[in-house]
Amino acid sequence: MSRPDYRPIQNLTPLVTHERELETCTFCPKLCRSACPVSNAEPRETLTPWGKMSLVNHMAHGSVPVDLTHGHAAWACTGCGRCSKACDQEIPVAQVLQDARAELDKLGIRPPVLNNMNDRVDDAESAMRRSVEALADEPAYDATSPHAILVGCSYHRHAEEEARLALRVVHALTGHRHRVVSSCCGASLTAAGKTDAAAERGRTMATHLGPLSSLVVVDAGCAHHLVSSPVAGLPTPVTLVELASQNLERFQPAHGLGEESVRWHDPCHLGRGLGQYEAPRRVLGRILGRSPDEFAERRERSACSGAGGLLPLTYPEAARGAAGRRLDEHAELGGGRVVTACASSLRMFRKAGADAEDLVRWMARSLGVERR
Ligand code: SF4
Ligand code: SF4
Repeated sequence: MSRPDYRPIQNLTPLVTHERELETCTFCPKLCRSACPVSNAEPRETLTPWGKMSLVNHMAHGSVPVDLTHGHAAWACTGCGRCSKACDQEIPVAQVLQDARAELDKLGIRPPVLNNMNDRVDDAESAMRRSVEALADEPAYDATSPHAILVGCSYHRHAEEEARLALRVVHALTGHRHRVVSSCCGASLTAAGKTDAAAERGRTMATHLGPLSSLVVVDAGCAHHLVSSPVAGLPTPVTLVELASQNLERFQPAHGLGEESVRWHDPCHLGRGLGQYEAPRRVLGRILGRSPDEFAERRERSACSGAGGLLPLTYPEAARGAAGRRLDEHAELGGGRVVTACASSLRMFRKAGADAEDLVRWMARSLGVERR
């Protein structure tokens, strides 16, 4: 890719606020290239953080056409934020690419698989409603409670049992019965680039819920989205992991684990997104009676499962490759169980054949509410 000429930004003009970041990446010797789960799984220059940012920069400056050929790579990002941690200047690549998606989407430029994104979210909400209706027999459930739990559509669709356990855990920890949110927070629409539609979903959710006293969020992606794009009328979300960490004394050590390896995977949105590295380790450590096993690449440097940013839809091979690389590291370190707190990562790992569990199951086991 050649250096763009010095014409000012003439396309995708709202990206002028990111001109410094785009220019910095375009002329950088790609110091973060090994950090990106997408280009690690699918080694192409255009899929490195440098390549993606350069393409956006060239489109903005009019050096290449603004079209899907050059724009598709903006969706080759899980939003994991790992490149920013590897970058001396902490360039917020994920945010810039996110904003580029929004501008491209407004022009009708998007991966074809995302053309029916609103329908996908409608389907997800229908599935979520069915899953929530099935929780009505739980003693912890109260459809009129001022205390709400947002489990997240990924749990309701792909890890329904974990959604049920989350409701029991939050009840055991707080003593409050909870209503369960059955509408979309807008996170996946934001990832698609549909920011207006995402904001509308958030407002609808808040209106539907009415005034609340508390909001516990289970899915790290939903929690990160609501913290990054607060919805008026909703209380500050607290992650279930945070809540558990604040009530550590309530957890009893699990029995019968022996020497079995139990390794913690930092979800990107929980760790780099919300800075919650200690809380899940404290909770899992308390339940295990010892520190959980660790990946070599952990905390700020944790590798991504490939599940975020709609990558499984837009670059499915790269998404599978990222999960495979993470699990290869797990196997090299001795294998065992992988524990995480993200429904999308859980699904990716399970589809790849891993013995993967969600931290909420361990919490439920420890609190004695796993089985009823
Ligand atoms: S994020 Fe930082 S290290 Fe990566 S290409 Fe941009 S400027 Fe270079
Ligand atoms: S945020 Fe993650 S997936 Fe996106 S470019 Fe950076 S390292 Fe790659």
